Amino acid sequence: MRRIALLLPAVALLAACGSVVPEGPKQQTVARSTAVFTPRPEARQCLAELGASKANFTPVPDQYFERGCSTLNTVRLTSLQSDDAVLALDRLGPVTCPLATTFAAWARFGVDRAARQILGSPLARIETMGSYSCRNVAGTARRSGHASANAIDVSAFILADGRRIPVLGGWNGGSASERQFLRTVHQSACRRFGMVLGPDYNKAHHDHLHVETGFPGDFCR
Ligand SMILES: [Zn+2]
Repeated sequence: MRRIALLLPAVALLAACGSVVPEGPKQQTVARSTAVFTPRPEARQCLAELGASKANFTPVPDQYFERGCSTLNTVRLTSLQSDDAVLALDRLGPVTCPLATTFAAWARFGVDRAARQILGSPLARIETMGSYSCRNVAGTARRSGHASANAIDVSAFILADGRRIPVLGGWNGGSASERQFLRTVHQSACRRFGMVLGPDYNKAHHDHLHVETGFPGDFCR
């Protein structure tokens, strides 16, 4: 990590997200008291796009937290849709709508189809280590993409035949086809998300794929 920081100072600032801690009571604020939550007009198009993907979700009222963290234009995603099945999600907190739509498309067109082609089984579930967390990039004063619900940490993929393909142990262990699958979905994520960090990037990402939207530019490791 130190060596990377010396070589790539700007990049190293973006590095570790580590494990995401579910938002605790200290970070919660009381949402604005509105009897009926109405998304802002600029958010509606994204919500319509997300609905068209047949994702199941609930819009969340905007919230600002202490220390500059926020969940703006976010949804609670409960499931996604592949070509012909519902895709379950585990341990996912609020995510911004643009992140949700990108994640939905990746799950369907990137992950599910790779699972069918490489592993011979459709995708059934995506395990995550969470999304929103009011925190900095480890070792820096810079806010993580998680602090604005713009990032998801993906830890494993569960197939319809019951197999579980974890990033931890699967990236460098597992069968050849499982390693190929994980690298394929990592690459397809890079084509869709602004930032993707995996086990080859640093130790902080040894057990998950960090996928993030809202990042200016492309960063894929
Ligand atoms: Zn992360």
